[in-house]
Amino acid sequence: MHSFARCSAPGCRSVVFHGLSTCLSHHDDREAAESAALAILSAEGGAKDVNAASARFDSLDLSSRRFVGCSFIGCQLKTVLFTGSTLLLCFFDAAAIASCDFSGVNAQFCSFGGSDVSDSSFEGSELIHCNFDGARIKDSTFSGSNLYDSRFIKGEVHRSAFDNCDLKRVYFIPSRQSETSFKGSNTMEAIRDLEHIYT
Ligand SMILES: [Zn+2]
Repeated sequence: MHSFARCSAPGCRSVVFHGLSTCLSHHDDREAAESAALAILSAEGGAKDVNAASARFDSLDLSSRRFVGCSFIGCQLKTVLFTGSTLLLCFFDAAAIASCDFSGVNAQFCSFGGSDVSDSSFEGSELIHCNFDGARIKDSTFSGSNLYDSRFIKGEVHRSAFDNCDLKRVYFIPSRQSETSFKGSNTMEAIRDLEHIYT
């Protein structure tokens, strides 16, 4: 797991950014810090325990890598490819994820809580024990994926596809939902109401 050391700026409760003694917003050379994190994350094979919280990454190829315990919390990810990568205990909470590709990922115990996901693909993925609670998902696809024990509670899902998915033990209870399809998915196995949430 990435370091939980606190930012050295007085009163700041944020966790230190990769390679810094402060969070990204209390560092005076944001671009250099982001580039250093990007170099580590792009390494062939992947990265472990990197805290890239609040970084802005655009047009980045992180495909076919293995990421363990990394934080992308509050990041702005645009056109970032995680295609075919393994993601274990990685955090994307409150991130803005736009036009990104997570297709074919093997993601376990990852969190996308409160994130904004748009125009992105999670097709053909293993998304096991993943958290999308409070996420706002639009124009995206999860089709052909195994979403075992993942949660989509109190978020929003619009114009998205969950076709041919394995929804066993999936908690699918968004606050708002429109134009979302589940063709060929075993929706009967999903938990669709809050009454059964703690069973
Ligand atoms: Zn700080």
